[in-house]
Amino acid sequence: MPEGDTIFRAAATLNRALQGQVVTRFVSVYPALTRVDSDTPLAGRTVDGVESRGKHLLMRFSGDLILRTHMRMSGSWHIYRPGERWQRPRADMRVVVATATYEAVAFTVPVAEFHTSASLARDVTLQSLGPDVLGDTFSIDEARGRLRAAPHTRIADALLDQRLLAGIGNVFKSEVLFESRVAPSASIASLDDDTLTRILQVARRQLQLNVGHDQPSSTGRRTTGRLNPDERLFVYGRAGDPCYRCGTPIVLVKDGQDARLTYYCPKCQVVGSNPVERV
Ligand SMILES: [Zn+2]
Repeated sequence: MPEGDTIFRAAATLNRALQGQVVTRFVSVYPALTRVDSDTPLAGRTVDGVESRGKHLLMRFSGDLILRTHMRMSGSWHIYRPGERWQRPRADMRVVVATATYEAVAFTVPVAEFHTSASLARDVTLQSLGPDVLGDTFSIDEARGRLRAAPHTRIADALLDQRLLAGIGNVFKSEVLFESRVAPSASIASLDDDTLTRILQVARRQLQLNVGHDQPSSTGRRTTGRLNPDERLFVYGRAGDPCYRCGTPIVLVKDGQDARLTYYCPKCQVVGSNPVERV
């Protein structure tokens, strides 16, 4: 499942390829999009820029038109040279934005809609997004305030709640909590400000580490800084394997609202795990 780093990287790649270029062709399987295209054609418009907002991707065109897409579980944007063979079947194609030099293809994106800047400003899903962990204007204080507003939420669930904090998915949730030494079951109320600050700093650093130009794809995420490809992550996907810090077997639990997987070290991650403090 794409997390904020994947979307951020996709937006940066699309932006480098398309910004300032004139659209030569637009194709979509979604009638709501093709209707806008036939009324007010995309061809001839300039791509003003592409950016990510949490897990949403925004492609801005001249003439106040914005394409918002969301990848959900399996969607992705690819960029190809004209005539280059696509890496996914044509049946998975949902949107194509072509210029003279590139062809941007969205595969199996379940959410794709056009907006004007006015309608985007009213868009409930976007407006309710918490601070974007990868955003230029990310503020630790603001993010901590959002978390504090949900005192009874388990920290593992809070990190996934895009209304509290935008950009973190299941992999980074486990990795951030391990590096912060915080128990996944800890309620927000049981964590002091210094601990919440540490969690947020670690989250931003881990995601930033994964968005550089030369970083591997989502399958190559890393948080440990180790070069060995088998040791890229602290705990995610390592159930039963020894903790890199203390040797205790990593535990996997399936819980929370969507029964999401959480990996953690029961010995290292004790902050907030005191039963007395549990809510
Ligand atoms: Zn450990």
